[in-house]
Amino acid sequence: MRLVGLEQLGASLSPIADARFPLRVPRGFIARMRHADANDPLLLQVLPRACEYDATPGFELDPVGDLDARSADGVLQKYAGRALLITTGACAVHCRYCFRRHFPYAEQTAAVGQWQPALARLLEDTSIREVILSGGDPLSLATTKLAALTDALTAISHVRRLRIHTRLPVVLPERVDRELLDWLAALPLQRVVVLHVNHANEIDGSVEQACQALRKTGVTLLNQSVLLRGINDEVRALADLSERLFACGVMPYYLHQLDRVRGSAHFEVADERASRLIGELRALLPGFLVPRLVREVAGANGKVPL
Ligand SMILES: *Cc1c(COP(=O)(O)O)cnc(C)c1O
Ligand code: SF4
Repeated sequence: MRLVGLEQLGASLSPIADARFPLRVPRGFIARMRHADANDPLLLQVLPRACEYDATPGFELDPVGDLDARSADGVLQKYAGRALLITTGACAVHCRYCFRRHFPYAEQTAAVGQWQPALARLLEDTSIREVILSGGDPLSLATTKLAALTDALTAISHVRRLRIHTRLPVVLPERVDRELLDWLAALPLQRVVVLHVNHANEIDGSVEQACQALRKTGVTLLNQSVLLRGINDEVRALADLSERLFACGVMPYYLHQLDRVRGSAHFEVADERASRLIGELRALLPGFLVPRLVREVAGANGKVPL
């Protein structure tokens, strides 16, 4: 793959050959990068670096305790009323800070055709009000497969809400096609789509169109971001992101402190700086455009506010 402006980074790229989590980024996302800028905030999210191999104490393979939380194949149940379904390990993009970059998807996916154990678990636990489709990226599955899954979910009477955690409408807005929109519009559940955007530059006209089309189906659109050093750890960048999201009909939801996954230490922002940034953001924006700064703590009963 050719990346614009990457030539001068060739030296740091060449030793990177992590076959389990290789460079992966759609062309349309590359087109939104600033040409020949080694510090472009989109480029930095996807570019493998030699420092990913540096061992940093405290940065682990499973930082958020996902392996302890599984209750059936592909089901993660950590919080009351909600069950998260690992639908697939596939993503259209490989974000270098991804907390699931070492997750054993092959063993832990409620794979297509093998939904049964996951569905049985959801059926049996009547405390579950909301099912969250996650991954990987659930929208990397074909819409027909998603529809088969939601047919089974809508048959479970205690499940009222469907939430979809996806980055695909951002990195590959073409995925938001007629078939997907028709499927969403027809679902007899309350629907929430949580996007993942870290920088305003990720949102071009095609992403905005995708968001507007999603909204027209009646879904609630939220966004979660990860606070990333050198990418969005400036108040201006965070303010621009919130403004840009809202212009597309998307409400800022969470700003996550980085999950300390092995290979991501160079992205970490100190807690004091993170809290200060949120304080500054509050002084600039209406309250509803200030995301909640949270961290995921293994064993906690929800995301923990900072
Ligand atoms: C983050 C997460 C959720 C959703 O948490 P909210 O605070 O409701 O957004 C649910 N289940 C798991 C396992 C999670 O990691
Ligand atoms: S889109 Fe989400 S799950 Fe996929 S690599 Fe990026 S952070 Fe990880």
